[in-house]
Amino acid sequence: MASAVKVYLRTRPTDNVQGSFTLQPDGKSVAIQVKKTDKPRGTGHINNTADTIKFRFDDILLDASQETIFGTCAADVCDNVLTGYNGTIFAYGQTGAGKTYTMSGDVSAAYNQRGIVPRAIHHLFHESELRGDKEIEVRVSHLEIYNDVMYDLLADDVTQADNLQIVDRIDDPRFPETFAAGTGARETVIKGLTKKYCANEAEALAYFFAGEANRATASHILNKTSSRSHCIFTVYLESRGVGDSSEKTTVAKLNLVDLAGSERVKKTSVSGQQLKEANFINRSLTFLEQTVNALARFGQDNVDPHVSARQSKLTHILRDSLGGNCRTTLIACLWPDVEHADETVSTCRFASRVMTL
Ligand code: ADP
Ligand code: MG
Repeated sequence: MASAVKVYLRTRPTDNVQGSFTLQPDGKSVAIQVKKTDKPRGTGHINNTADTIKFRFDDILLDASQETIFGTCAADVCDNVLTGYNGTIFAYGQTGAGKTYTMSGDVSAAYNQRGIVPRAIHHLFHESELRGDKEIEVRVSHLEIYNDVMYDLLADDVTQADNLQIVDRIDDPRFPETFAAGTGARETVIKGLTKKYCANEAEALAYFFAGEANRATASHILNKTSSRSHCIFTVYLESRGVGDSSEKTTVAKLNLVDLAGSERVKKTSVSGQQLKEANFINRSLTFLEQTVNALARFGQDNVDPHVSARQSKLTHILRDSLGGNCRTTLIACLWPDVEHADETVSTCRFASRVMTL
């Protein structure tokens, strides 16, 4: 069975390119030269010869345009949402590697700098209009998770932390048609989360940017750094067959996730707050890897009992949108600068563990 998880590598431009970072001729593998830092074995001989690590991904996009990224990594996931399957797109990587650029884009720059979120919104509205036979209803929510606490970015008071609750609806006979086709009777709902109805593309986009602005405001008030939190913008799509006697309703959602920076922090060089943040991020990224792997391997209904998506807010929320017939895409963002060689390797390692199933 083809894996429902796709993993892509994207590099951001940098002046100081890591000389040892090379794309292999097949276009889907990279080789990175790393210096061995192994402790000498007894003799005092220091082994620092370069070693090459190779990684293979679904595709590797070096300095690709925003349009190429959307077409290669995201368009398929959006098309699946239109046919009733939940989807999730993650941007992963160290702070500064281009996660926000990938998901949101550079809004102050030219139109073609738009990231995946604005393009996905456009794609969903445009494609469903092109099909002509559907009537759609779109809602959006915007959620931030900081230190495993959820913040509703479209609420009146975005600094309020404690009024959201994750509810699992499993095999609930009251909602037989509301589940994404083929994923089993399962839905994760966040009670109390604001969902805004969007009549058109412009409204959906306005809510996305309003959430981004609220995130910045709240960060300032609560003294938290936005690169230390996960952000999930979700588009809920409901489409009905018009003139179709069965009046079949398709419901699916698309989660667009800007993950917290994956960089390792040195315990000795950060304050208590930064260490706490780092611990929450490490935990949630580890659970994310485990959950994605377990759901891809065992399917929605037969999850590896040793892995519980409930161990972190991030995976619990996305529980109904990973694995099974859902499409999951991870875009590993790399900053291929000499200075960031360690993080480059560690990002590739994480990405390839999610990929090798
Ligand atoms: P992150 O969200 O991972 O911390 P950002 O998306 O904020 O990183 O990117 C850091 C900086 O690099 C920003 O100024 C951004 O505009 C720029 N940048 C990142 N990726 C690209 C890219 N592919 N092309 C052009 N500029 C980029
Ligand atoms: Mg960012």
